[in-house]
Amino acid sequence: MMKRLVLLGAPGAGKGTQAKRLAEDYGWAHISTGDLLRDAVREGTALGAQAEAYMKKGELVPDDLMIGLVRERLSKDDCREGFILDGFPRTVPQAEMLAELLDEMEMPLNDVVSMDVNDEEVIARLSKRLVCSECGFMTREGDAQIEDACPVCPGTLIRRKDDEPETIRRRLEVYQESTRSLIEFYRREELLRPVDGSGLMDAVDARVRKLLGLPTEIG
Ligand code: AMP
Repeated sequence: MMKRLVLLGAPGAGKGTQAKRLAEDYGWAHISTGDLLRDAVREGTALGAQAEAYMKKGELVPDDLMIGLVRERLSKDDCREGFILDGFPRTVPQAEMLAELLDEMEMPLNDVVSMDVNDEEVIARLSKRLVCSECGFMTREGDAQIEDACPVCPGTLIRRKDDEPETIRRRLEVYQESTRSLIEFYRREELLRPVDGSGLMDAVDARVRKLLGLPTEIG
């Protein structure tokens, strides 16, 4: 089933986890702007150099940089089979630009899923999150330890630089200030589909699929 989706939610709401699973199961492109930016920083591109300082502080990268990045990514062929945007848009100007771009490409959005999780659960999740430095694989401290080998690639498990307590707090503030207004924006566009994002990953996954009317038997 072809779909063009946006996932909204606070940092730690589980957007990345859900996006990855859905994209794999249904053959959609998974577009995480956070991952694209971290790649740009690692590769030392001009964009990476500009974005790094914002990311370290938990601030948003300026809209004009984001828009160029997303335009380029959405023009790739793999997006024709459907895509899931994870971490973009984060501001109303980004959402307006996205609508314009997708209009031009004749690929309008089908749904915007907003994942609702309370702050305590989000903070608990982020402060335990470990990610692979190479492939983005995610797990929790407890299930693995910092500096363990990644189970799926030759990389190492680390804590993201912006998952330190002070930066987590700032990212949540930024979310409240900038991103929450998107919920209203998409409600007005009649695209918003809120889902309860609390609890276990499999339960959230089932709720999202049901909400979107996605087949659960795949292949
Ligand atoms: P994420 O992996 O989605 O939590 O993103 C990590 C960081 O990348 C954010 O804290 C921002 O600094 C930056 N970032 C990612 N997506 C965006 C966006 N759509 N607009 C502005 N900054 C972004």
